[in-house]
Amino acid sequence: MSTQDADGLDVAAIREDFPILEREFNGNDLVYLDNAATSQTPDQVVDEIARYYREYNANVHRGLHQLSQEASIAYEDAHDTVAEFVGASGGREEIVFTKNTTESMNVVASSWGLSELGPGDEVVLTEMEHHAALVTWQQVCKKTGAECKFIRTTDDGQLDMDHARELIGEDTKMVSAVHVSNTLGCINPVGELADLAHDHDAYVFVDGAQAAPNRPVDVEAIDADFYAFSGHKMCGPTGVGVLYGKQHLLEAMEPYLYGGMMIRKVTFEDSTWNDLPWKFEAGTPPICEGIALGYAINYLEDLGMENVRRHEERLAAYAYDRLTEMDDVDVYGPSPEQGRTGLVSFNLGDVHAHDLSSILNDYAVAIRAGDHCTQPLHDELGVAASARASFYVYNTEEEVDKLVEAIEGARELFA
Ligand code: PMP
Repeated sequence: MSTQDADGLDVAAIREDFPILEREFNGNDLVYLDNAATSQTPDQVVDEIARYYREYNANVHRGLHQLSQEASIAYEDAHDTVAEFVGASGGREEIVFTKNTTESMNVVASSWGLSELGPGDEVVLTEMEHHAALVTWQQVCKKTGAECKFIRTTDDGQLDMDHARELIGEDTKMVSAVHVSNTLGCINPVGELADLAHDHDAYVFVDGAQAAPNRPVDVEAIDADFYAFSGHKMCGPTGVGVLYGKQHLLEAMEPYLYGGMMIRKVTFEDSTWNDLPWKFEAGTPPICEGIALGYAINYLEDLGMENVRRHEERLAAYAYDRLTEMDDVDVYGPSPEQGRTGLVSFNLGDVHAHDLSSILNDYAVAIRAGDHCTQPLHDELGVAASARASFYVYNTEEEVDKLVEAIEGARELFA
């Protein structure tokens, strides 16, 4: 009998798919709240990874033998699965498999940025960008003479859209914005940013690393020119990420890596490039990982991305409420009513987040502590680090209660 909760998920049944959640430490059940860093992988995906290696492991695109054909078809089909998942009507031509979100960012910043940016041009980012975007555009701007500008964060932890309207202008060539902040948990109006960018003939790159795992994404409704995310944050394996790009933009861009598979014809003098997306997938690609990402997406789609979104928002709201009830806990980012999903970053008094997380580990509560690859944002918040609890499809309100109990235990220890 199905025991779906109000979000439409049967969390008890989902948890059975993730045997890692049965682990215990120090006599406590594992409470895994570090999903924004890496989510766990369900048996359905692990089994497919094993089946790949047991039954049809071979290199792709190259062989005429049966195994290679099976691997090639599965790998290529996985691109179509991703295309459908994000609403890319161009299909596999618009979906490049990379190593991760970071590499997807580097593909565009290098291939597009190094040839299109120059002195006087501006790349508009947000203050809450992950280092994956911030450092990458910063360094490409240094090389090209372009300038990075940053859209401010409001005092209540949201993107300051008035400032966005001020900054995005004639000189803007690219707007690069995070869809869901991995530190503040806010959901940025990336569709509005895309409209602003397009009004000024600029492009928009959306970092969807924290959004694609937990809400329905439609790149065409957003009108994103580029959109990136990682398999390992959405029930998939490490080692595979996605770069969505509008077909005409990917066609116009130079390859990022050169070598085998990405070419059509090579002579001693020159080379021509393969069709999309293979032009951007030089060398042996993440074959098993890409196929497994397709299965991870099937798993999430069976749960229903609307249900996943509701679940993530409810848990984030519950955690926000429980943590803000504590006078000595500072929570960063907007309230649930203002729009928050997936995660809550916070500090307990002046206890360093690393110390807090190591005490929480004694309770088998796994959270993240540090700057979450958003150092400049932490500078703006006036703290060196924060603790971050982040949720996924298998987490429960009871686990949020255990987090709160563990924080209370830590408070007594540090008192
Ligand atoms: N952007 C955001 C918003 C993230 O949360 C992360 C992962 N912490 C990344 C980019 C980078 O992802 P990856 O390490 O998989 O490249």
